Amino acid sequence: MTARVLDGRAVAKQIYEEVTAAVSERVSRGSSRPRLATVLVGEDPASAKYVELKQRNAHSVGIESEDHRLPSNTTTDELLSLVEQINRDENVSAILIQQPTPKQIDMRQIVFALDPVKDVDGFHPLNAGLVALGLPGGVEPCTPAGIIELLLRSGIAIEGANAVVVGRSNLVGKPTALLLLKRHATVTLCHTRTKDLASHTLTADILVAAAGRAHLVGKEMVKAGAVVVDVSTNWVDGRQVGDLGAGVETVAGWLTPNPGGVGPMTRAMLIRNTFEAEVRRKG
Ligand code: NAP
Repeated sequence: MTARVLDGRAVAKQIYEEVTAAVSERVSRGSSRPRLATVLVGEDPASAKYVELKQRNAHSVGIESEDHRLPSNTTTDELLSLVEQINRDENVSAILIQQPTPKQIDMRQIVFALDPVKDVDGFHPLNAGLVALGLPGGVEPCTPAGIIELLLRSGIAIEGANAVVVGRSNLVGKPTALLLLKRHATVTLCHTRTKDLASHTLTADILVAAAGRAHLVGKEMVKAGAVVVDVSTNWVDGRQVGDLGAGVETVAGWLTPNPGGVGPMTRAMLIRNTFEAEVRRKG
């Protein structure tokens, strides 16, 4: 079997088209144009590139943006005062703080300080809590929301499926498990203390690999016909790879390319969340 492709780039394109139409309709009836504020601390070239890409994605759908750059020796207090300034800015719909930030920054304080309505990543505890409780009104974090959207738009049935998520971070694994649960999957969450990882992954109709460990999930760990989502971004010999070993595509029924699967979906959800933040703010 050769797995069918879960094409993140194609689905992301659909989402950009939808947001473009929604922004245009909003502006044409005299409502405000959404605006994304990005914050980059330090000079890491990869992070700078991600921020540029996100700005370009925003512009492509008619969303304005502004770019805040701080030096790598910025303190938590300095970043806090920028966040508070952007929180107060009537013209800004949503704030993105590019991570990772330098070690001296206490991201917990920063995340708590974000205006939850402008929290485009869904990191604020109010948003995370609403998502965890399955209540409406919370911002769903971009990567997990992108995974669900990719599955649904590819015609994958989540309800009743056995879903196994490898990785329990607050950024990816845990919220992905919660969103799968919300869609009525039966969910298993695995991590470094999980005994016999393969015994769990082999039960998965939907397997989400988000451990950040190249080659962790070999083809012998994948059920025939499973839907496999490879979230991770590992660098091996200068090449981007995920968590999957060789030959998974011969066992899986569906598979995300990496790159070209979850990454484009994450950025598309950021843009959609920015639009939705403006709707929440101003109606
Ligand atoms: P993280 O904070 O390092 O979390 C990794 C998780 O994987 C942890 O829960 C860890 O378990 C678990 N894990 C690590 N090794 C394992 C093993 N051998 N067996 C089972 N579980 C294991 O990473 P993250 O922020 O969640 O990101 C995960 C990956 O996704 C990274 O490669 C990141 O670059 C990528 N990512 C991609 C996108 C995208 O858009 N494509 C977005 C975000 C992140 P413990 O909790 O027990 O330590």
